Amino acid sequence: MEPAVRIDGKQVAAEVIATVKKHTAGLVGETEITPGLAVVIVGEDPASQVYVASKSKMAKECGFHSVQHTLDAGTKQADLLSLIETLNNDPAIHGILVQLPLPDHIDEGRVIQAIAPDKDVDGFHFINVGKLGTGEISSAFVPCTPAGSMVLIERVRGRDLSGLTAVVIGRSNIVGKPMANLLLAANCTVTIAHSRTRDLPALARTADILVAAVGRPQMVRGDWVKPGATVIDVGINRIPAPERGEGKTRLVGDVDYDGAAEVAGTITPVPGGVGPMTIAMLMANTLVSACRIANRQPPVF
Ligand code: NAD
Repeated sequence: MEPAVRIDGKQVAAEVIATVKKHTAGLVGETEITPGLAVVIVGEDPASQVYVASKSKMAKECGFHSVQHTLDAGTKQADLLSLIETLNNDPAIHGILVQLPLPDHIDEGRVIQAIAPDKDVDGFHFINVGKLGTGEISSAFVPCTPAGSMVLIERVRGRDLSGLTAVVIGRSNIVGKPMANLLLAANCTVTIAHSRTRDLPALARTADILVAAVGRPQMVRGDWVKPGATVIDVGINRIPAPERGEGKTRLVGDVDYDGAAEVAGTITPVPGGVGPMTIAMLMANTLVSACRIANRQPPVF
């Protein structure tokens, strides 16, 4: 069998960003509206700081009005909620993102539900979750990682997935469940697998589209993959890489890339697959939010 075709997430993300920039320039040129993204971070988690900095930077590159609120780890929940209220009411802001996780003394659910649904560019508010679940996708915000994964799937399989079976491994609210809803909306026959699923390899082998969103390095082996399948690896895991020198590490996905690539038709690498799509879709969602306010047709990604 031919080895699988690698799906280049960096390339597709660059195309999404180019579309965002073009439409942002049009919006700014023809209306009074500049897309505005507010990113809020509480505390000093180093990984979160890196994510937030790259989101703010990308927003600027897209031509957005980009603001970052960095709050110290001891910030009271009431103060965070009042900042969100201010951003909800700020007409210059079209997207609000609160970087998770939040410190333990803050109720994450409370904070997420305080974000105005029409500025909830992460797509975690119940209103947006409900819209996705009922197929009202055009007026929803879809969480960025599954939205980006779906763009990659569409590039290789088209927008209508009628007749195809999909298995999503992982049932988180951030990835697995919204991913399954997107695949269902595209007419796939979808199964959600998780830690309690029996004989996962056999189930995975039924999938024309196999999405792994677990957080276990290289769990999905080549013999879990149906010949010709599209494999989307959402996992990001850091593992020791002694071959690179003492104490060195490297990133791997939830899929054993080399093994799976011998069987799959198309497959995303880690890094360079779903990862770059997540931030691109955050920009896309923010632009879409501004287009809705401006009563303009948003681009299709
Ligand atoms: P999570 O921990 O919330 O959910 C993991 C899911 O995997 C759970 O539903 C659990 O039931 C399932 N699971 C655990 N062990 C299993 C097993 N042995 N067999 C089958 N299922 C099992 O994680 P998440 O937030 O959904 O993230 C999943 C992975 O995706 C992580 O590696 C995370 O780093 C990565 N991620 C990547 C991006 C990105 O931008 N590419 C974004 C979000 C998450």
